[in-house]
Amino acid sequence: MNYRTFGKTGEKISLLGFGAMRLPVIGRDQTQIDVDETSAMIRRAIDAGVNYVDTAYVYHGGNSEVAVGKALKDGYREKVLLADKYPVWLTDSKEKVSELLDEQLKRLDTDVIDMYLIHDLSYSKWDIVKKYDVISIFEEKVREGKIKHIGFSFHDELPLFKEIIDYYDWDFCQIQLNYMDVAFQAGVEGLKYAAAKGIPVIVMEPLKGGKLTDTIPESVEKLWREAPVKRSPAEWAFRWVADFPEVMTILSGMSDMRQVEENLDILSRVDANALSDDEKGLIEAVSAEYNRLIRHSCTSCRYCMPCPNEIEIPYVIGCRNEWELYNHNKKIKSQFKFFYPGKNFPSSCIKCGVCEEKCPQHLAVMQAMDEAAAIFE
Ligand code: SF4
Ligand code: SF4
Repeated sequence: MNYRTFGKTGEKISLLGFGAMRLPVIGRDQTQIDVDETSAMIRRAIDAGVNYVDTAYVYHGGNSEVAVGKALKDGYREKVLLADKYPVWLTDSKEKVSELLDEQLKRLDTDVIDMYLIHDLSYSKWDIVKKYDVISIFEEKVREGKIKHIGFSFHDELPLFKEIIDYYDWDFCQIQLNYMDVAFQAGVEGLKYAAAKGIPVIVMEPLKGGKLTDTIPESVEKLWREAPVKRSPAEWAFRWVADFPEVMTILSGMSDMRQVEENLDILSRVDANALSDDEKGLIEAVSAEYNRLIRHSCTSCRYCMPCPNEIEIPYVIGCRNEWELYNHNKKIKSQFKFFYPGKNFPSSCIKCGVCEEKCPQHLAVMQAMDEAAAIFE
């Protein structure tokens, strides 16, 4: 296993972190975790050198924390930095912060959470952080010995990321990054911005939730096949992220032992600044090919919003594009309604045309709504 240094403490942290958001489940119910298999997977990873395990209050309906707590029995807790995330959107008072942290400690069956993150910061959640002064309460919890390091995970636009980075002397932060998301959310610019301020960065979604490995379009497959060096798509994706020395740890949400073994193997062989120009060129060609497959080149500028019928147009088009890009990956279909941020689904489009008049890309938005309705509803 390769290790990188945790800025403030100098501790060595494994380049591979175990993400506990896609644990094996029994049947189809995502809250029914296969606890024995989970323990076997987490312990195998720790035995092979992984020392960072990441969970959250909401993963698997709260049962991820419980399963991780069980996996870390028998002396494994002391071998890892345990990361957990505070569900900031549930905050309705200052007392609630303490209550939720205590609940998390209980679920994990531990006295202290090493890495405590404000979960999934966005504009609206950042307002909650400031309203209830959540960071000051976290600082109290550090003094009480219930948490050790304060960070946040992020899923919004780059300007907000920079604002949050500048707001507080964070111990670390967590962003989404992979070769398809170079300029998405925090992106590479955000990574370098945080690193320049001395804030260690943990990367999530290195495989874009499996979309870069599960169902690969034939034209992309061909590019990988013809590369002089033969590597799996997962290895190329991990190598791309690991190439940035600014990345401290790469989280992978592992679902079975095969993935654990594959990730352990890959992350023990990769290093920073190791990709050649040709290799970077190949990954860029793959990214360009994915982008060529995009059906509606929406930039998410939101000029078309608000839709008078309260359809979340950029989200709908984004999912519509991903459906083509990632070869009709069924995960996209199952996630569409689950994460839908709008009030009405695309089938309720009344064809008023307001969006198309405003769209600077002159996209066929109404057609995209019809396509999305046929696929996702
Ligand atoms: S055409 Fe459909 S998607 Fe566009 S603004 Fe009107 S209702 Fe919304
Ligand atoms: S205006 Fe056009 S490009 Fe911008 S978000 Fe709407 S559909 Fe996408």
